[in-house]
Amino acid sequence: MHLETIAVHAAAEPDGVTGSVAPPIHLSTTFEHGPASEHIHGYSYIREANPTQTRLETALAQLEGGEAALAFASGMGAGSAVLQTLAPGSHVIMPDDVYVDFRNLAKEFFFKWQLEHTVVDTSQIDQVRAARRTSTQLIWLETPSNPLMKVTDIAAVAELAREIRAKVLVDNTFATPILQRPLELGADIVLHSTTKYFGGHSDVQGGALIFAKKDEHSASVDNNRRLLGAAASPFNSWLVLRGMRSLACRIRAHSANAMAVARALSTNPAVEAVHYPGLPSHGGHDVATKQMSDFGGMLSIRIKGGRERAIQVASRVKLFMNATSLGGVESLIEHRASSEGKGSKTPENLLRLSIGLEHPEDLIEDLQQAVA
Ligand SMILES: *Cc1c(COP(=O)(O)O)cnc(C)c1O
Repeated sequence: MHLETIAVHAAAEPDGVTGSVAPPIHLSTTFEHGPASEHIHGYSYIREANPTQTRLETALAQLEGGEAALAFASGMGAGSAVLQTLAPGSHVIMPDDVYVDFRNLAKEFFFKWQLEHTVVDTSQIDQVRAARRTSTQLIWLETPSNPLMKVTDIAAVAELAREIRAKVLVDNTFATPILQRPLELGADIVLHSTTKYFGGHSDVQGGALIFAKKDEHSASVDNNRRLLGAAASPFNSWLVLRGMRSLACRIRAHSANAMAVARALSTNPAVEAVHYPGLPSHGGHDVATKQMSDFGGMLSIRIKGGRERAIQVASRVKLFMNATSLGGVESLIEHRASSEGKGSKTPENLLRLSIGLEHPEDLIEDLQQAVA
């Protein structure tokens, strides 16, 4: 079945009691059980599992093509749960251009969790090969990466990981399962900040993990979520599922708009560089063409003249909103180094753009006048 169809129909059976076509939101924190706590209706307590979250997880697993999925309160909650299941002494390979709060988490918590890590440019496969140790348990990928839009060859890294029996996690937030299929390329775990494209309307926070295999490892991550408490709320699960229904068609429109914006800016003399994997000039274009069906709605640009000029451009936009986050219907712009704050490695002349669902000509006109 095609992804568009799965996105609409996965876990979309009508409510068993009322026949409602839109799914119910079960807000109940507790479920009737038997006198000896028998789970007679399949549920017991909201944090362990709840029907709305289960419906979302069933849909996520089907759309991403995994055996199991877990919904979380946030993308950070999802990523932390994977890291916390690693045994003390484990070694993790992390990308240099990783989502800033995962870099901050590594810096502040890996020591306490007794994890070691090596930061490499994962788009350079030799660097991944050289960073491997016998203790390497996890190779973390983010492709395309936030905010430099670096592209990593998922299948090539999965092969290197197999040789040392390490797992590969891919943060698929930017691409979504519509454009990129990490589990089919050999990855073990997919991570999403569903706050972004899954929700799609800048109004819900969530995270998700999808596992190639439902096994001891996925069960231990589930146990971590239960005890550390980063489960998704029923209402947020419902909103993420609602967003998922239109994900495929939104992503196609985001991608087409972003391509038009990237092309237009790439010939603007005030722009030093456009980082968009859909442009043939992008270093990762060939790999992206191989492993993605389109290039997504995110891009970043470097402005000639440095930090002050970049901030000036951000201050001049009329249609774009100066705001962080991404994946909503409205186009957003931000001076990423300022937003990331301490610990940022992002170039000072870089602006990150989340291209929304407006008409691309209006977006291009707004950016051209701001950049001029
Ligand atoms: C936003 C984001 C995250 C973190 O997700 P939250 O839902 O904000 O916790 C992780 N990875 C990427 C690529 C992101 O853009």
